[in-house]
Amino acid sequence: MFVLPEFPVSRPRRLRLTTAIRDLVRDVSLSPSDLVLPVFVSEALERPAPIESLPGHYYYPPTSKELVDHIGRALELGVKAFLLFGVPKVKDEAASRAYASDGPVQEAIRHIRKEIGWEPVIAADLCICGYASHGHCGVPKKCRRGVCIDNDATLEIYRRIAVSQADAGADIIAPSGMMDGQVKAIREALDGEGFSDVSIMSYSVKYASSFYGPFRDVMDSAPRWGDRRSYQMDPGNTHDILKEALLDVAEGADILMVKPALPYLDVIYRLHTTITTHPLAAYNVSGEYMMVKLLAEGGYGDYNSLMLEVLTSIKRAGADIIITYHALDAAKLLRG
Ligand SMILES: [Zn+2]
Repeated sequence: MFVLPEFPVSRPRRLRLTTAIRDLVRDVSLSPSDLVLPVFVSEALERPAPIESLPGHYYYPPTSKELVDHIGRALELGVKAFLLFGVPKVKDEAASRAYASDGPVQEAIRHIRKEIGWEPVIAADLCICGYASHGHCGVPKKCRRGVCIDNDATLEIYRRIAVSQADAGADIIAPSGMMDGQVKAIREALDGEGFSDVSIMSYSVKYASSFYGPFRDVMDSAPRWGDRRSYQMDPGNTHDILKEALLDVAEGADILMVKPALPYLDVIYRLHTTITTHPLAAYNVSGEYMMVKLLAEGGYGDYNSLMLEVLTSIKRAGADIIITYHALDAAKLLRG
């Protein structure tokens, strides 16, 4: 075992003496190209509308100039990847706007491809909770305990959504519903329709978290009955971490994801050290974003420093990719 020379030979403060020295020896750095900006497109709107529960963010009409401008501004700042969420005009039992070829996400992607081309990396969130009247990520059915989520019937809908998103021009399909076998089903569906070049970024390790509050407001996607604990993961269970991640690897995921980020930095670190073959993404979720916003608003800290410290911690834990509502603010700072 390597033993450090003792004080006074060892003086760690030597390498913290000036900003230039600190910058020289720093080994964790953030770049705008690490960041993914979530974007919300709503087909009920004629013009952009601010999102109250996510200050600084807007709903964009799918085929609007403002959406194109928003993506263009991000590209100029070096943020090159986007995760699209759709808000339908009407929710129905079948979540039909999730896979409609003229659904909000599909329309938005086609519009961005037409106006900007293929420079932006576009990932499409794939789930039904924001589109279905019941608000669950899977199809409900009657079962012996009352109502359950029908895993395998849900996969059939996921296949349709994936193909429609790929057909619209998505680079990456990002299934977030935590159904067993979702990556396999989506890979098969994509390959079967000629989309073998479309990647899958799986929400592999996604917890039933209380930090999603603002997002559920944004999407109006809270379950109308029950909760999501029969499919999202239990924060106190560590057996499922590798199980979920390795199953997704085996099923063909290209990128793995941990969600949320801050309360699960240990999980990010574990996956970073055990699965070195796949890029790892972390979702710095809406509740984490609001924690920083509210601390700063209350005068308890500086927004920029709080934000950079949070993002650095996620990078240091081992995330290669950070999906974050801070993306544009962070990119502005990082570019000086
Ligand atoms: Zn969902």
